[in-house]
Amino acid sequence: MSSWWCASAWLDGGPVDDVRITAAGGRITAVQPGQPPRPGDHRLTGLVLPGFADAHSHAFHRSLRGRTHDRGGTFWTWRRRMYAVAGRLDPDSHLALARAVYAGLVLAGVTCVGEFHYLHHPAGGGRYANPNAMSDALVEAAADAGLRLTLLDACYLAGGLEGTGHLPLDGVQARFADGDADAWAARVALLPERPGLRIGAAVHSVRAVPAAQLPAVAQAAAGRPLHVHVSEQPAENEACRAYYGRTPAGLLEQHGVLGPSTTAVHATHLTGDDVAALAGSGSTVCACPSTEADLADGVAPLRRLTRAGAPLALGSDQHAGSDLIAEARLVELHQRLVTGQRGCFRPAELVDALTVDGHRALGWPDAGRIAPGRRADLVALRLDSVRTAGCAPGQWMMAASAADVHTVVVDGRVVVSDGQHVLGDVGRLLAAAIDPLWDDA
Ligand SMILES: [Zn+2]
Repeated sequence: MSSWWCASAWLDGGPVDDVRITAAGGRITAVQPGQPPRPGDHRLTGLVLPGFADAHSHAFHRSLRGRTHDRGGTFWTWRRRMYAVAGRLDPDSHLALARAVYAGLVLAGVTCVGEFHYLHHPAGGGRYANPNAMSDALVEAAADAGLRLTLLDACYLAGGLEGTGHLPLDGVQARFADGDADAWAARVALLPERPGLRIGAAVHSVRAVPAAQLPAVAQAAAGRPLHVHVSEQPAENEACRAYYGRTPAGLLEQHGVLGPSTTAVHATHLTGDDVAALAGSGSTVCACPSTEADLADGVAPLRRLTRAGAPLALGSDQHAGSDLIAEARLVELHQRLVTGQRGCFRPAELVDALTVDGHRALGWPDAGRIAPGRRADLVALRLDSVRTAGCAPGQWMMAASAADVHTVVVDGRVVVSDGQHVLGDVGRLLAAAIDPLWDDA
C-alpha cells in the first residue's frame, strides 16, 4: 500500500486542504480530507490533481516543432512538410521518437495518451513482417515512458476528397493505407490489449475514408473508442458538400459513426445541424487549440457544443506545445476572442475536460478523479512558482504551465519526481530522436 499526504487536492470540482490518499494495486483505496500527515506518507506540496488525458496525439508530428515557420503557407503546405518526415520513419526511429514524446507528456502531467495512429506500413510499399510493427513501437514507447495508451488505429484509404470524388493515394500516403476497411479491421484485430493498453479505432477523416467504408469501421470498433478528424478546414466541408451533399458531421451521422464512444476531433467549422448531430449522439468533441492556432484552422464552437451536451476532451495533436494545461487555458481564451465574453468555461469545467472526460473518451472511465476505486493517478503542481505564486488555487488553470508539474503518479507508480522523469533527460532523448530525421532534409 502507498500513501500520500497532499497540502491541497482537487476533489471533484475544487481544491480541498490536507488530504490523505491511500492506494493499493494501482487503485485509490481511500481519500480523507482534513487529515494531518502520518509517518510514512509521501508529502506532496502545492496542489494535487487527477491525471491528465491527452486525447489526441500524433507523436511523430513533434519532430516538426520549430521547423515549419519560415515560409508561411497554409494547413496544406504544412501537411507536405509533415509527409516528408512521415516518409523517413521506421519502427526503430518511431519508437525512439514516441518514447521521448510520451515521456515529455508525463512530465506535463499526462497519465494517458490517445495516439491517433495512421503511419502503418513501410515506406516504398509492402508490409512489415509484423504488420503492426509501427503500432508495436508506440505500445513499447508508452510502456517505457510510464503512461497508459489508447491506440486509436486509423483507417486511411484515399488520398483526399474533391467535389468529384476521392483521390488516389499519393506518395507517402501509401504508408497509411490498408486497401479497404475489412483489411484494416483484420490487421487491427491482431493487436492484443494488455494492462495499460486499450485498442481503439479511428476514421482518419471523410477525406481519407469513403462513405461506403464507414459502416465497416464503425462495426469493427464495436463500442471501443472511435475517433475521427471532423471539419478541421473549410476545404473539407466544401468538398464533402459538393460530392455527398452533406457536411462531414452529417455524413458520419448518416453512416453510423457518431455515438457515445465516438470523439470528433477539432469540429471547427460546424453548422447548427452539425452541433445538434454531434451533441445529440453523445459524441465527445476533442479540442486541440494550440494546433488549431498553429495551423490557422479557426476556432470551434465549443461553448455551443458543450451547452448542447457534448463532453469536451483536449489533445496536443501535433505537439506544438505538449502542455495540456495550456491547451485547456487556450480553449477559454479562444472562446473569449470570438465571443467578446470572459468566463465561457469555468476553470472546473476545463479540469474535467483535462481529466475525467478525456479519460472517458479514451476508454478509461475508471480514471480522471481522485476518489476511492479510481486509478491512482496523481499530478502535483507547484503553486509557488513564478507563474503560479499568488493565484487562487481554484483558478490555477489560468496561471500554471506544464513546467509547474513536479510529481506524477500513474496507476500508483511514481514516474516523475521533483520534475525528473525516470528515463532521465527527456530533452536529450527528443533531440537524439528528432535531429537525425532532418540531417539531409
Ligand atoms: Zn490529428
